[in-house]
Amino acid sequence: MDVDVLIIGGGAAGLMAACGAAGYFGNAGSAQTTVVLEKMPRPARKIMITGKGRCNFTNVKSWNEFSPHIRTDRNFLHHAFFNLTPEKMIEFLAEQGVESVVERGDRAYPASYKASDIVDALERAATKAGAKIECGKEVKSIAQEDYTVTCSDGTTYTAKTIIIATGGLSYPSTGSTGDGYAFAEDLGHSIKTCFPSLTALVPEGYKDNHSELGLRLPKGLYNGHIDRSLPLTALGEKLCGCSLKNVGVTLTNTKDTLRTEFGDLDFTDGGIEGPVGFTLSRDAVKSILHGAHLRLIIDLKPGIEEARLAAKIQAPTEEGKNNMPGILKKLLPAGIAEAFLATNAKLTKPAPKALAKALKEWTFDICGFVGYERCVVTAGGVDTREVIQKTMQSRISPGLYLCGEVLDIDCDTGGYNLQCAFCTGYLAGQSAAKSILRKQS
Ligand SMILES: Cc1cc2nc3c(=O)[nH]c(=O)nc-3n(C[C@H](O)[C@H](O)[C@H](O)COP(=O)(O)OP(=O)(O)OC[C@H]3O[C@@H](n4cnc5c(N)ncnc54)[C@H](O)[C@@H]3O)c2cc1C
Repeated sequence: MDVDVLIIGGGAAGLMAACGAAGYFGNAGSAQTTVVLEKMPRPARKIMITGKGRCNFTNVKSWNEFSPHIRTDRNFLHHAFFNLTPEKMIEFLAEQGVESVVERGDRAYPASYKASDIVDALERAATKAGAKIECGKEVKSIAQEDYTVTCSDGTTYTAKTIIIATGGLSYPSTGSTGDGYAFAEDLGHSIKTCFPSLTALVPEGYKDNHSELGLRLPKGLYNGHIDRSLPLTALGEKLCGCSLKNVGVTLTNTKDTLRTEFGDLDFTDGGIEGPVGFTLSRDAVKSILHGAHLRLIIDLKPGIEEARLAAKIQAPTEEGKNNMPGILKKLLPAGIAEAFLATNAKLTKPAPKALAKALKEWTFDICGFVGYERCVVTAGGVDTREVIQKTMQSRISPGLYLCGEVLDIDCDTGGYNLQCAFCTGYLAGQSAAKSILRKQS
């Protein structure tokens, strides 16, 4: 089958690429073809699980406030962002009958809080614009000479332009298994080393992370990946479920402070996550992979200096209420007090100075991280220096376009990742269609 714009991957970026390409052809009154090949039985499986099923699809911050949340080359995204701003994305969905609400932190959701409404709207928009979405089509290879694409069922497509929108490696059960990195590499691109980001960090002694043989693996023999499904230890059980609000968190290696954040943090069955945990995870995973020994230090009382905190603790001890659980209950929510004591075995007597220090520096050695099986995004990917930022076209393979998470783009949580997938996809689609019509005229 001959196709004008062939999009590999029907996720967030691929569906918006279809809207961009088919929409451009439609506006020009031309009958060129746009086809999306999606390997799963339905498109955009990953969007269905975003924002815990509610889909935080964009963030309405201005570029100046949005761009610091992009953890890679933010200038690369400048043009794509202004071509499809968060406000335009909201309008685009409204045209498809999906109203939005904006919550704390400028995060936008569908008013129904149903991720399925976003998927349906994108699918509807792409089809209405004239794109054909073919599901159950797993692309296996792309021939460099003539852009013939072969699927696992043996069908072939010969394309004038190809858009790779295959996503990253996280949650492989949604279809994102990193196939696009190999396609891009085959077509001459370089891939920046990939690693999991926005993921749980695992404290030492939190998970029963022994090898399958029942042996604890010595440091250096494993790369830091600790599977999410491994059981919790007794300590992990005590901490799991604790949610800390408005705490200060510092990530350090043996020498330096890597990053300090302020906000909320959760202990889960994976390890330490929540908004602050996730924000720190990118630097943490990268450092662990480089062999660093990491520590995470939680300041449970960021609003008060250590000396003043010690003085505050002094008072109840003088009143005779000198039992640790009693004192801690006054200082911390009940569940957290218990977990705190479990990790500070030396704190048997309520020595105010030692207790104040422990509250200001609740310290965890980090021994690993949860991997692609449950991380939110993949850091690394196709080197963006090899892609033209005004079109998303490859500088290496003419007629090839790349968009979304397959590129070396990753952001903080808050709707930034989907916005980047949508806007790079839309620009790639429009640019591919434009190039075809330009060649024809
Ligand atoms: C649990 C979770 C929650 C998240 N929550 C949010 C959130 O609330 N807000 C936010 O902004 N971001 C969120 N993200 C991140 C966001 O979902 C991704 O950044 C975004 O989906 C990337 O879009 P993409 O189109 O590049 O890739 P994907 O959405 O991964 O789509 C890639 C598509 O390509 C298909 N594909 C892959 N290989 C092939 C092949 N060989 N042949 C054919 N098809 C193929 C896949 O099946 C898939 O459908 C979340 C991610 C996860 C895992």
